[in-house]
Amino acid sequence: MHEMAYLRRIVDAVVDAGERQGAAEVVSVRLVVGELRDFIDKYVFGYFKFLARGTIAENAEVVLQRVPFTVQCRACGTIYHFDFRDADAGACPTCGAHDFELRTGRELRVDSVVVRGSADHPRAPEPQGVQGKAAGRA
Ligand SMILES: [Zn+2]
Repeated sequence: MHEMAYLRRIVDAVVDAGERQGAAEVVSVRLVVGELRDFIDKYVFGYFKFLARGTIAENAEVVLQRVPFTVQCRACGTIYHFDFRDADAGACPTCGAHDFELRTGRELRVDSVVVRGSADHPRAPEPQGVQGKAAGRA
């Protein structure tokens, strides 16, 4: 159930990204989630929907891109998948060493946000700093 706190930050980031683009709606969101995060899909989808309620992202489709937990052997350089749920796992399949460093598996980021713009709500103009001076009233 640790997904909740992370999802809150993710939803905030997604809504923020959508609003900065002047979006009417966030259509889909792709999240990159490392295996070590141990997220359960149904919680991710459920919390996203719950937290995004009332925002432009409430109907967004959430896609999870999983990244496996891999490590690299310090002895021989082999990169291999580490099954952290298996207590006997961890040895390098090439040389048998237990000396490795993390390569992938801790990712947690918003990879892409697809938005739908609104025709009657075009992209907000950048502030120019000269507005209101044209009238010349002194
Ligand atoms: Zn090795």
